[in-house]
Amino acid sequence: MPFFVVDIALPLPLRRTFDYLPVAGEDASRYQPGQRVRVEFGRQLLMGYVLGTRDQTDVPESKLRPLLERLDDTPLISADSLNLCRWLADYYHHSMGEVLEHMIPTMLRRGANLNEADERVWITTDQAPEKPLRGTKQQALWALFQVQKHWAHSDLTQRGFSLAQLRSLADAGLIEERQQLPLPPVALEQQQCHTLNSQQHHALKLLSAELGRFKACLLEGVTGSGKTEVYLRLIEEVLSKGQQALVLVPEIGLTPQTVRRFQDRFGVPVALLHSGLNDRERLQGWRQVSEGGARILIGTRSAVFTPMPDLGLIILDEEHDASFKQQDGLRYSARDFALVRAHRAGVPIVLGSATPSLETLHNALTGKYLHIKLTQRAGNARAPGMKLHSILHQPLISGFAQPVLANMQKHLNAGKQVLVFINRRGFAPLLACRDCGWMAECRRCDARLTLHRHPPHLHCHHCDYQQGIPAICPQCGGSQVEGIGQGTEKIQEQLEALFPQVPVRRVDRDTVRTKQAFDDLYDDIHDGGSCILVGTQMLAKGHHFPDVTMVVILDADAGLFSADFRGMEHSAQLICQVAGRAGRAESPGEVWIQTLYADHPQLNLLLDSGYHALALALLQERQLQQLPPYSHMALLRSESEDRIQAQQLLQESRAFMQSWLQHQHPSSRRAPVSLMGPFPAIMERRAGRFRFQLQMYAEERVPLHRLADALVQFLDNHKGLHKVRWHLDIDPIDTL
Ligand code: ADP
Ligand code: ZN
Ligand code: ZN
Repeated sequence: MPFFVVDIALPLPLRRTFDYLPVAGEDASRYQPGQRVRVEFGRQLLMGYVLGTRDQTDVPESKLRPLLERLDDTPLISADSLNLCRWLADYYHHSMGEVLEHMIPTMLRRGANLNEADERVWITTDQAPEKPLRGTKQQALWALFQVQKHWAHSDLTQRGFSLAQLRSLADAGLIEERQQLPLPPVALEQQQCHTLNSQQHHALKLLSAELGRFKACLLEGVTGSGKTEVYLRLIEEVLSKGQQALVLVPEIGLTPQTVRRFQDRFGVPVALLHSGLNDRERLQGWRQVSEGGARILIGTRSAVFTPMPDLGLIILDEEHDASFKQQDGLRYSARDFALVRAHRAGVPIVLGSATPSLETLHNALTGKYLHIKLTQRAGNARAPGMKLHSILHQPLISGFAQPVLANMQKHLNAGKQVLVFINRRGFAPLLACRDCGWMAECRRCDARLTLHRHPPHLHCHHCDYQQGIPAICPQCGGSQVEGIGQGTEKIQEQLEALFPQVPVRRVDRDTVRTKQAFDDLYDDIHDGGSCILVGTQMLAKGHHFPDVTMVVILDADAGLFSADFRGMEHSAQLICQVAGRAGRAESPGEVWIQTLYADHPQLNLLLDSGYHALALALLQERQLQQLPPYSHMALLRSESEDRIQAQQLLQESRAFMQSWLQHQHPSSRRAPVSLMGPFPAIMERRAGRFRFQLQMYAEERVPLHRLADALVQFLDNHKGLHKVRWHLDIDPIDTL
């Protein structure tokens, strides 16, 4: 048998691949890219991925080891997916093995077989019962098989049916047990759709003209303008061509109502992939989609990796949402990767938002993307009126201006709901001593501890450190230790005192710990009745609250003076999103924004002329400062318990990059990449580690990526400074 080695990618941070000898007795024809293998690496047993075979190697023969096991006969990861992985590994300068792990669900990563997704299903034999069924349970069970021919065993047990009841129907020859993959249930009755208004109609016409080829499209439509309705129509066309649709939504936007809207509209199986699923459910969803059984996939960020053999369309809703960017490990942007996927697959991608990111807007304005606008709310709903309410020199009652409270009372009297938005959970953001000025600080972060009352404790929101509340000041022994400022808990308490006649519901990460809890709460709110909702940005996204007619934004000012250059953009997006909760149904809403800076020019521009106008102004600023989207950016971050080492690694990286740039571009006066820093992060110490960053800006992508390649190689081979961790963030979404 001729000599050969197998080229293996391992899930390690190392940016290289490894040569192994084949499993004893296997020839090269058994190995295909995309198969999984088990290998010994040092003393570890790892899963590896075949990239190819070679007939020579630099590894000395004595060091070559054989693969322990080959798990797949045919590739588990398709050639298309492998190519996408190569793009990801190149673009994000990441290890191929770690990238490959993103392509498959956890169970497959751990060596499971695809069939392990299988579950017992029961299918009708299409025989009619010879005699009437006895017992209401039997009848109810049989009735289910009349609406859908096959049911997963677990779906039936969840509905309260027992194995004995199923067996008895099987004994009567009515149903049969099978070992096969259950497809998600299909809607029983297809939902009626609205007649599109003229803007929606126009949007649909433009978008459907793009089906069948790559085109990036921005659907910029105010909240409630009927974007989802347009997506649904477009998907209908895609399905009728026998193709699949991928719908990506932010984590928080994947509400039961959204899912129901998709499931109810089409008579095809819809798969769901989100973080609330267990490993088996993920594997099932992945398999249903990748084998083509499910025709629509709705999912959050990581669903973008799911193979879809008949992909015809990608929709990415709320494209500006930060949750599309992964913030650890492989720091990919699901939006940018979805664009690459659409391009490779030759299908259109629709990016939808009421408040598009400046990057996407820039691409639309320069004609790179098709730009479609929906400016009116669909149906009869009217847009909310927004106003700034100055609290400068105004007496406040529990943090609220008197006219704001009076207006809240008016809405509550009318039986409506009021939403109070404050992006700060806990009771008070600060615990301080009135006598000496001591403040409770986190021992591990440059941050203050938040005071919580339910249950009483001090909590660091950055590293999760928790401790009890001191009864006396640890510095002066005084007893005047108090919470300062307001968080959601305090606002709730104060509003309960001010409006004893209505319930005050708090919606934040402390009250709503699970997806189920949120859905229950949502159902409660949806059932109506006047109430006040106090919440963080959990309340801001994705949910329709038809009875909310007034929104109060308490702390808009916090976002106006952010140290990050995207601060104003993100604040404006959040304000619009919160405001969009008001007046979704027939009743018009109003939005009051309390501020100390009622003459803040950008805030006024947002309120008077809308997000789009503000975005244009912000784009001009970015252009003047040569910031993204007018330049491309990468960030090298370091962190260490040793402050000097964390800083030194970046200083050495800077020196390396400067000389590399000089060497590459000796004649040019200005290097194609400019370097800034190292700077300490805004919160220099977090969870006991000191953090620094080095910023890289470039007009063109190519020189930036070439520099990043060289940098990563330099860092991979860097010796000394063992205590420092580093990572490279391409297209970072913040510089904090
Ligand atoms: P968006 O996704 O832009 O926020 P949706 O598609 O969710 O907007 O639509 C907002 C509301 O308006 C929904 O309740 C939807 O059912 C309704 N709607 C959408 N299009 C129409 C239409 N053409 N006529 C009447 N109501 C519509
Ligand atoms: Zn004190
Ligand atoms: Zn901390």
